[in-house]
Amino acid sequence: MRVYLESLGCKLNQSEVETLAHQFAAAGHELVTSAEAADLCVLNTCTVTHVAARKSRQATHRLRRLNPHARLVVTGCYAELANEPFDADLVVGNADKHRLLDLIQPATSFQQPAPDIRSLLPRTRAFVKIQDGCDNACTYCIVRVARGPQRSRPRDEILAEIRARIAEGYKEIVLTGVHVGAYGKDATGTQQGDLHSLITDILTNTAVSRLRLSSIEPWDLSPEFFTLWQDHRLCRHLHLPLQSGCDATLQRMGRRYTTDTFAQIVAAAREAIPGVAITTDLIVGFPGESDEEFATSYEFVARMAFARLHVFPYSARPGTPAATAPDQVPPAVKKARARQMIALGQRLSVAFQQAFVGQTLEVLWEHRRNTSRGYTWSGLTDNYIRVISTSEADLTNTLLPARLIAVTPGGMRGIVSNSAPAP
Ligand code: SF4
Repeated sequence: MRVYLESLGCKLNQSEVETLAHQFAAAGHELVTSAEAADLCVLNTCTVTHVAARKSRQATHRLRRLNPHARLVVTGCYAELANEPFDADLVVGNADKHRLLDLIQPATSFQQPAPDIRSLLPRTRAFVKIQDGCDNACTYCIVRVARGPQRSRPRDEILAEIRARIAEGYKEIVLTGVHVGAYGKDATGTQQGDLHSLITDILTNTAVSRLRLSSIEPWDLSPEFFTLWQDHRLCRHLHLPLQSGCDATLQRMGRRYTTDTFAQIVAAAREAIPGVAITTDLIVGFPGESDEEFATSYEFVARMAFARLHVFPYSARPGTPAATAPDQVPPAVKKARARQMIALGQRLSVAFQQAFVGQTLEVLWEHRRNTSRGYTWSGLTDNYIRVISTSEADLTNTLLPARLIAVTPGGMRGIVSNSAPAP
């Protein structure tokens, strides 16, 4: 079969689609980059906000319209929880996603040699899932409903997957999950060791060039955890979802920290990991968020000097406690607060990058654009700074240092060895 795979939403979804791509390729199927060319389309959906759910629904229509003859298989969180009919030939729940290939074609053999699928996947960064599900109860969250309880993936399986991705040429491995800090803490008592020991194992027993954590809950971190960064292959990037910078709002959200404890973690991280980028997610307009609460949150966010903000206007997800909480915030107010917070995020991001002007940092170069001044390359530093530089050389998937010379709207301008600065 010719198979087209598409993913919406989080990095976990992306890692699952990459795993499916390897499974389909290993079973002898051909991966294609357009739905029109496919016999089978697989869509991994998202429902974290109502916008994500709408995009997922629209994507099923789009794929069907693009290729009415292809079989359409829909999986992921939207497929799991949708309370409206949508067009698909097969719906696969999250719990069965790992055996999706068997469900489509029970007789598929996995014994055939795997064709090289690198040309169909981004080659620099591979997302590897280490756990699924979550045992917390944040009052706005539908993901824990869609994904079920926390389950850790066996450690030897994770290491084998990482070694396979490294052998394929990937330079950076990103560990993903719904709640990665809960790794090894399954209610069923999985004996996998915790996240600290998993990371130590990966750094010690694989040839990984760069290892990144996708997102980690603040309550899972301790000062001892930061000793891991003595190994410079661990990227100086912590994505700590704050959600609100006001204690009263955090309490209604069911989050397990206060702004004080969050600030202590950030201070400890900055002391242990110089140059660390601390990025975050924020929900604005959560039920009951008054103007004062929002102002408190805004001030705290400014004080934390995040390197990047992902701002989401609160989206009521049916089936969560917050969806029926009193004092829902009007859409216009949510929008105005989101605009304010996004503008703050842009200022903080520029300030973070300014601190690196004149420094030389290693960049993992990803892709190039052909411009009037030659090839413009784009890549990421370990501390999540986008760098652009011109070079006639092929930098694809190389780790090369660049001197950062200026902050621009598209990222920092840099000079990579033997190259001119980007225009
Ligand atoms: S920690 Fe909270 S927000 Fe994150 S998945 Fe679990 S319940 Fe949802």
